[in-house]
Order: sequence, then C-alpha cells, then structure tokens
Amino acid sequence: MGDLAGGVGVYGGTFNPIHLGHLRAAEEVMERLGLARMLFVPSARPPHKQDGDPIAAPELRLSWVQAAISSNPRFQADSLEVERAGPSYLVDTLRTLRERLAPARTVFTLGCDAFREMDTWRDPKTLFTLADFAVTTRPPRQRGGLKEWLPEGLANAFEIDEDGRSARHREAGTRLLLLEITALEVSASSIRQRLREGRSVRYLLPEAIHDDVIASGCYGGAPRATDGSE
Ligand code: ATP
Repeated sequence: MGDLAGGVGVYGGTFNPIHLGHLRAAEEVMERLGLARMLFVPSARPPHKQDGDPIAAPELRLSWVQAAISSNPRFQADSLEVERAGPSYLVDTLRTLRERLAPARTVFTLGCDAFREMDTWRDPKTLFTLADFAVTTRPPRQRGGLKEWLPEGLANAFEIDEDGRSARHREAGTRLLLLEITALEVSASSIRQRLREGRSVRYLLPEAIHDDVIASGCYGGAPRATDGSE
C-alpha cells in the first residue's frame, strides 16, 4: 500500500447529511494509506439515490460538510460537483481531479456497499483507470472480498491477489484496495428516519452541524429545540 503514500483521497457521497461514519472512514483510509489529505466531494444531483427520501439542497449539504470537517486541516471540501450542471457522474469528476491533483495519485474512497453496485455507474470500465480505489468495509458485515464484490464484467480487468484484498488494473496499473475499518453502523438514511420521528441524532451527526441540520427542517419532523428543554 506504500505506493499510495502522499496521494490525495477523494471521498464522494451524497452526504445527506454527512455523519460520523463518513468522517471515521475517511480518517482511517488516510492514516492506513499515508494519504496527504482527503477531499470530500458532495454530489449535487446523485443519479443513484432514488429512494424517495428528501435530498437537502446541494449548497446546504456542502455547507454541512465544510462545517463538519473544519477542525481537521487535512480534510477539505470540494464544490466541483455542486457547481457543475447536470447529473453528478463520478467519471467526469475523476477526470477533472486527476488532472488537477497530478502528480499526486488520486485515491477514490468508498464503502463496500457502493462499490458492489459500481457496474450501474456511468462508464465503470473507465472509472478504474482514472484513479486508485480504496474500498472500506461497512456494517453489516459481509462475506467475501474483492473477487466476489467486483461487479461482473470488471473483474477481468484486474489481477487480484490471493487474499482478495488488493488488486492491480492490468492496463492502467491503478490499484484497488480493500480496507477493514472500525465498524460504525450509522447511515444517512437512519439519521433522516430518526429526524422524521423526532428522535435524537446526537453523536451520530458531527457536533458542529447537529443543531443546523435539525433547524433546517430538511428531513421532516418539526424543527425543535436542541438544548434539552423539550
Ligand atoms: P444513505 O443511508 O442515504 O444511503 P449513506 O449513509 O450511505 O447514505 P452516502 O453519502 O450515500 O451515505 O455515502 C457516501 C460513501 O460513504 C459511500 O461510499 C458509503 O459506502 C460510505 N459510508 C456511508 N456510511 C458509512 C459507514 N457508516 N461506514 C463506512 N462507510 C460509509
């Protein structure tokens, strides 16, 4: 994994809203791979998220990301998807970032749930030639490794190590790594559900955005007092 040291991590997501699972995953990937920094890239119009749940405005999600990471000098937010018109395709984002970040390596970071669905993303074959990929575990625990999780049709492009934790793209030379990280069973959808039900989301959301997310009323449920006075 040493060859990615000094690279720049890119953590994409809807961040609807950003939560402690995202922050801890980014921190562990950065530490394990020796990355110089991690860019958080909120997706403006995610082509994938169509579960009917409300999605807060892109500028608002970006501002929550900025506030949530502000105490960590090695975490940065990037607004390129929020500023770009049309759907947020990762392939466009990686083309732009790779050019901007070179000669540093671009290490796209995502959870295994998202990774397993990558054949539904735009131009998945090209995606893996544009960046290295760090895939993190995410609860609930799932059996298998890269061999089982690489979507069909993409596996042939890679030489996969015996242990299923590391692979190399045969043509592009880019790396694919599976990293076991601390399991934090928190998701944006469970936070939204709690908010709809008027339940506590403290210690699931970063402290810096807790009050603002509730006050926004974005996820239903009446905005409510957060000082325990209810
Ligand atoms: P939702 O519940 O709305 O689907 P989410 O919690 O999965 O949202 P996203 O913004 O869609 O959050 O996720 C961005 C990335 O963060 C994805 O690659 C996802 O796998 C990863 N991720 C989200 N939560 C965790 C977690 N608790 N642990 C590890 N990775 C996570």
